[in-house]
Amino acid sequence: MNSTSSGPSSDRPPDPSFDTVAVHAGDEADPGTGALAPPVVLSSAFAFDDAADAAARFGPGGDGWIYSRWQNPTVAALERKTAALEGAEASAAFASGMAAVHAALGSRLRAGDEVAVVGGVYAETLRLLRGPLARFGVTLRAVRPEDAVEGRLGGAPRVVYLETPANPTLAVTDIAAVARHKGEACLVVDSTFATPYHQRPLELGADLVVHSATKALSGHGDAIGGVLSGSAELVAEARAFGVRSCGAAMSPMTAMLIARGARTLGLRMARASTTAQILAERLEAHPAVARVHYPGLASHPDHAVAARQMRRGFGSLVAFELAGGQEAGARCYDRLSLIARAVSLGDTRSLMTHPASTTHASLTAEERAAASIGEGLMRLSVGIEDLDDLWRDLASALAQRS
Ligand code: PLP
Repeated sequence: MNSTSSGPSSDRPPDPSFDTVAVHAGDEADPGTGALAPPVVLSSAFAFDDAADAAARFGPGGDGWIYSRWQNPTVAALERKTAALEGAEASAAFASGMAAVHAALGSRLRAGDEVAVVGGVYAETLRLLRGPLARFGVTLRAVRPEDAVEGRLGGAPRVVYLETPANPTLAVTDIAAVARHKGEACLVVDSTFATPYHQRPLELGADLVVHSATKALSGHGDAIGGVLSGSAELVAEARAFGVRSCGAAMSPMTAMLIARGARTLGLRMARASTTAQILAERLEAHPAVARVHYPGLASHPDHAVAARQMRRGFGSLVAFELAGGQEAGARCYDRLSLIARAVSLGDTRSLMTHPASTTHASLTAEERAAASIGEGLMRLSVGIEDLDDLWRDLASALAQRS
């Protein structure tokens, strides 16, 4: 379905498909015991054979485990899996998605550098740039996606940072077009909403891709983590900064949970994105819904870019604006019974947020409007439940009367 086959004239066997890579990469049988389920190595430190071995491990290019904040076998197994899924030379895992974002930015930036932020990004990423990084002399330039794709980045940014699809309207930015104009800048793409199943930014010219692994990579809502992928050199620098120096190491237990979830990423995303597409179409036809934001709909302003850039579907997030504004949004939220009222996304269970009364309630209505957050905007993260059960829950929540 998705192999990058080398074609009939090559004698090279075709590359394994996404689902095969998801199951096998990083999950070689344990050489000591033959265990197929990778052991969780909780040890904080690792014994040296003798003084020469210790010195060799600490030396340049040193091989072998030393201390689990630096590297740990269970975390390294997850990193081999995510690198393979992303088509990257290397990956590094972090204690959270924000730690991965921080490592991507912190390892590239110096005082006086500028970051071009293209379109809307996760609010905490903006807070990191405007708060802690600004105090270290980093400046932020907000660039509209339509300018970035045509080369109007302005200034000489050290980092170009974008998120696609982006919250809350699932705007899609053309990664390849931005990459063509980035010059010497490091292009960092937060691909959390798409997952590597739907989008591989490195193949489109990004230098680093970051994920909140808390979301669909893990997929079961029971782990907080982050992953960053790219060239071996950039990933090593981000790891040295974020894991070794800042200490945002992922725990081995978390790595085991995320690797276990990642094995079924393709199955879960295939199901969730198919369901999301159908729900988006049904919502678009519903009289209580003023507008649906889903990149798989022909009505989405970025549908053409999404169709080019994303594959095997358009992801598991659907946003929709209720005709009745904030009151209708709160009423719809109250009436849900199967879909959970919760933040986060990418879980096996469906989750919904009503930003105007929850995550963005502290903003004024004008500030929300400027951020494209309508008063009746609902964001649905579609899980793997049965389509008809989900539609029944949505339709009864949207019903005009009780
Ligand atoms: N990037 C995106 C797009 C997110 O939605 C989030 C969290 O919601 C993050 C990064 C941060 O991830 P974490 O919560 O794992 O730190």
